[in-house]
Amino acid sequence: MKNETALVVGAGIVGLAVARALVARGCKVRVLERYDRAVGASVRNFGMVWPIGVPNGPLYERALRSRQLWQELLDATGAWHDPSGSLHVAHADDEWAVLQQYAAANAALRPCRVLDADATRAMSPAVVAKDLRGALFNADELVVDPREVIGVLPAYLSERHGVEFHWRTPVTCVESGKVWSGSRCFEADQIFVCSGPEFEQLYPELYAAAPLTRCKLQMQRLVAQPQGFRLGAALCGGLSLVHYAGFREAADVAPLQARYQAQHADLIELGIHVMATQNGLGEITIGDSHAYAHTHDPFDEQLINRKVRDYLSGFMQVPDNTIAQTWHGIYPKLTDGSTEFIAEPEAGVTIVNAVGGGGLGMTLSFGLAEELVEGRYTHVRHAA
Ligand SMILES: Cc1cc2nc3c(=O)[nH]c(=O)nc-3n(C[C@H](O)[C@H](O)[C@H](O)COP(=O)(O)OP(=O)(O)OC[C@H]3O[C@@H](n4cnc5c(N)ncnc54)[C@H](O)[C@@H]3O)c2cc1C
Repeated sequence: MKNETALVVGAGIVGLAVARALVARGCKVRVLERYDRAVGASVRNFGMVWPIGVPNGPLYERALRSRQLWQELLDATGAWHDPSGSLHVAHADDEWAVLQQYAAANAALRPCRVLDADATRAMSPAVVAKDLRGALFNADELVVDPREVIGVLPAYLSERHGVEFHWRTPVTCVESGKVWSGSRCFEADQIFVCSGPEFEQLYPELYAAAPLTRCKLQMQRLVAQPQGFRLGAALCGGLSLVHYAGFREAADVAPLQARYQAQHADLIELGIHVMATQNGLGEITIGDSHAYAHTHDPFDEQLINRKVRDYLSGFMQVPDNTIAQTWHGIYPKLTDGSTEFIAEPEAGVTIVNAVGGGGLGMTLSFGLAEELVEGRYTHVRHAA
């Protein structure tokens, strides 16, 4: 690939990760982005680089490699980040049992350990003390500020690696060796289409046949906390234990699932599991809900946001609960259980989408992009 030219469509985290991998291989890269800056899923998320969200094996290795690449980029750019790890807290015996099983199964595989109630509160003063059994601490997790890094990374790639960014350049057509924005034509040896949830616009027939839908997530932000109050780690409540495959794999979550189904059927129905991260300004991002459809209402349901906050209040207390912002984000979601959508609709054109099944693009994109560009990725879907 050295000395080849490449075009990347989309300046979200996937496009940026592909651009990084390409320049690392010596390519000359241009990125074409529809808007003045990326404003999609990549700036709307928690900023969790979240290896604990993936099962052991190749995905975990990809997540760790991504984390390593994140660290290099964060060091090079000076962008804010917090290698705080994650705390999954237990306020009931069945949650505590799952956390202990997870820690035992992963003792030799991950940097995780269980903490008793006192040790949990020592790590995070935000964890509710009443009925606290303890928590699982895992050291892999890293929090970035998505709104900052998605702005800083293009500047770094441009200044240090000569990547050309063409903002406000909507791509209207792609073919082998050529990308069109209206009547303007860009040419390159390799083209990567990283267009996120607007996925069907460039290859509608391919997408019509693909196992993809869209997931809408509602998010909220609390104001900066007073007197430098810090969460100490990214926090997750019990519902996350039935959400992530890693817990289902390592522990018997069936009893917990049955209790949640009985007690929190409304939350399960809305795909709610509740997490919180804090950025460098002290603001706390909380979420989220998951709704699946090709077309979503543009309107947010305040009832959903209230349910998230109600559940959160059972395990997290902070000095100031004032809501500063609410929003939603959308990502493409694979419906067949695969962990990314990589397709080659024609020679020299690669579509990269739905990373981590859709919801783990911040965690996996850098590693996946490197595998792709280095020719180590083997599950490319070819045109029929
Ligand atoms: C609310 C929410 C919370 C999340 N939390 C996390 C988390 O904490 N950790 C994690 O790992 N993952 C998380 N995710 C998932 C993660 O954000 C996504 O997997 C990731 O951002 C997808 O990146 P992307 O580049 O594919 O898409 P996007 O960020 O949507 O970027 C696609 C870009 O392509 C551009 N584009 C589209 N079409 C064209 C065109 N024709 N021409 C030019 N440009 C075009 C768009 O304008 C856009 O900028 C979350 C997602 C959401 C929505």
